[in-house]
Amino acid sequence: MKIGIFGGTFNPIHKGHLALINRMIERLALDRLILMPAAVPPHKDAGEVLPAADRVAMCRLAVAGDARVLVSTLEIERGGKSYTVDTLHDLKGVYPDDELILLVGSDMFYTLTEWHCAGELLRMVRIAAIARESDELSHLFEQRDRLNAMGARTEVVVAEPVVVSSTEIREHPEHEGLPEAVEQYIEQNGLYGRPRRIPVDLDE
Ligand code: ATP
Repeated sequence: MKIGIFGGTFNPIHKGHLALINRMIERLALDRLILMPAAVPPHKDAGEVLPAADRVAMCRLAVAGDARVLVSTLEIERGGKSYTVDTLHDLKGVYPDDELILLVGSDMFYTLTEWHCAGELLRMVRIAAIARESDELSHLFEQRDRLNAMGARTEVVVAEPVVVSSTEIREHPEHEGLPEAVEQYIEQNGLYGRPRRIPVDLDE
């Protein structure tokens, strides 16, 4: 099997993430994609990042009904800082005979060499990146060539970007970049400073 690994804080998951998921599955012919919400240590940005349970719940709602996508709590259960290199070692233990492909948006692609154990990480797996802005393809190709010259196996999946970030959504929770089920979850639980809205069942 070809398995895509897509990690992030997902605070919250949005339509840009979903676009990446769908495009990567199609273009790389993935059999499965593992969505991996990161653990966020309590001391780090504690005020801004929602508890893991909420981030996982929103991920599950966003991909509900898509049998190709699995939401994993591996990093959350492992706790501490979520280093991708550790996650890949764990996953290689679970999927020894499958090909793992790390999936990233462009901002992460540019910083890969600064990640924990970057050299090992770059040798370990194929890495596929996608643009987040419409004018950055040439930068992505340059970064691909730079990384591959170092012995990495990276590629760029060319697709029209869906420009949205979790930061924008946290600042403007009415943002149209939210999948509907996630927006409802945010409303019902009064997250990101939204007033809590209890659903009323008129039939009762
Ligand atoms: P924040 O604004 O809080 O930094 P974010 O929107 O960048 O959040 P993350 O959860 O940090 O989202 O990102 C997880 C992964 O998703 C990263 O690889 C990131 O590059 C990618 N990603 C995020 N938004 C998009 C998007 N609009 N299009 C493609 N990839 C994206």
